[in-house]
Order: sequence, then structure tokens, then C-alpha cells
Amino acid sequence: MFKRNVPFFEYPKLWSDDREKLLSIIDNVASTGGFILQKAKHPNKTIEEVIKFAENQGWTIKVNEKGHAWGRLFCPGGNRGDCIISVWSTPRVAENHAKQIKRRINSCEHKK
Ligand SMILES: [Zn+2]
Repeated sequence: MFKRNVPFFEYPKLWSDDREKLLSIIDNVASTGGFILQKAKHPNKTIEEVIKFAENQGWTIKVNEKGHAWGRLFCPGGNRGDCIISVWSTPRVAENHAKQIKRRINSCEHKK
């Protein structure tokens, strides 16, 4: 039997050395709402799939922090008056809501 030396790390120093840099990363991401976008996952699988479909078509999802809708989809046009689709968190029939969202995505004529 021999004793193994476990390397000692000064963990608090790892944070304090890079504190400013790490905090600025958090600040950058949080200011753009990026952390919400990363987390955004709709509880319903069918609707989550249609949101992914929308994103593949260049749409942006913004998750509501409060309110009735789970979030809103913005079409690629990005101009005032362009399509905005409300995504409900608990629609009565999720499949119908997903279909309705998909129909509106497909009928959008605003391109980037
Ligand atoms: Zn549109």
C-alpha cells in the first residue's frame, strides 16, 4: 500500500482569476436573451417539433416570461407587421395547434 497524493487545487482562485471574464460572458449571453433561447423547450413534443421546423425556416422563438402564451414565433422578415405566431403552452389539442402553426409558417412570404 502506498499513499497517493491528490493534487491540490486552489478552487476559489480559479474563479477569482477569471471572475471578470466569466461574468462578462454571463452578462453578454443574458443581455441578448440567449440563455432563454438555449433553454427554450416546449413541454409538448409535437409543438416542440414544429418550433424546430420553424427555426430551420429562419424563424425566431421568444419565450414569454409571463402571460398566456408560452412564447412567440417571429418570421424571418423581421419587419414591423411581419408574422408573429403565439405558441400556447397547453392548447386543448396540441396536434391541431402544431398544424395551425405549421400552416402559418408555410404561408409566410417574408424572406430575409
Ligand atoms: Zn412572415
